[in-house]
Amino acid sequence: MDYQRILEDIYREIQPFAREGKPADYIPALARVDADRFGICLDTIDGGQYLLGDASERFSIQSITKVFSLAAALGLEGEALWSRVGREPSGTAFNSLIQLEVEHGIPRNPFINAGAIVVADVLMSHYERCDEAYLDFVRAISGNPTIGYNREVASSERATAYLNAAIANLLKYHGNLHGDIERVLNFYILQCSVEMSCCDLSRAFKPFADHRSPFRYGSTSLTSSQVKRINAIMQTCGFYDEAGEFSYLVGLPGKSGVGGGIAAVCPLKYSVAVWSPRLNGKGNSVMGMKALELLTTRTEESIF
Ligand code: GLU
Repeated sequence: MDYQRILEDIYREIQPFAREGKPADYIPALARVDADRFGICLDTIDGGQYLLGDASERFSIQSITKVFSLAAALGLEGEALWSRVGREPSGTAFNSLIQLEVEHGIPRNPFINAGAIVVADVLMSHYERCDEAYLDFVRAISGNPTIGYNREVASSERATAYLNAAIANLLKYHGNLHGDIERVLNFYILQCSVEMSCCDLSRAFKPFADHRSPFRYGSTSLTSSQVKRINAIMQTCGFYDEAGEFSYLVGLPGKSGVGGGIAAVCPLKYSVAVWSPRLNGKGNSVMGMKALELLTTRTEESIF
């Protein structure tokens, strides 16, 4: 498969969509990012790497971080994790409060904000120095020891995190947040501020594409079955309330973030990460979705 040529063709084909959508602006620091960046990187499980555009430029991974925090929490808690968070698609916005209230503080899944805040609480109950321990895991899985948080993005988000604060309070009210609200919220927001490039992300997702290889990074290890199940949750819950559409158009497990990144895997074939900050109304990158749709169409490789 000539992936490089396919990526180049895709880049040309998506140009008509280059001005569609707009970057997230509810986090002030994200609104300042150049909206016209585009990068993509694909790693095959047999060691090939193909990239294009701003693939080595770091950006705010935002909710893509939720895949790493779920992996870390599942490694620490195993099945017990599912007593505190579900694994059903939500069909509502990522920061919605309604379902959480109706369902008595048990978030639908770990990829909506409520679920990821519970996961952050779980991690804090295990890690002594959570900020460092989490970063160690992300650095280990991406093979890049220079990856870090962007504390300016985190404090800009914290200053306006009214909805996430409401979610954390509701969780606390229902007894599903054990730590201190303020500390858990800060840790969740810090996780979202991690900056990585498409190449870092593609590399970090490779273990999810290659579930037959041992998953052992830092202090986190997962069984092959756990890795496949994380993929299942990515497939059903990874794209806000557009997971069905992503499944239909692209057909890969993946996760998006409001920084404009999407990381996805084609099991036993490749991992891929794409970045373009302009988002559609559901919060997913317009060019990113288009690029991945064309990728699976051209290669005729998806999970279906
Ligand atoms: N930090 C963002 C928030 O909590 C993440 C949102 C996202 O990327 O979906 O609102």
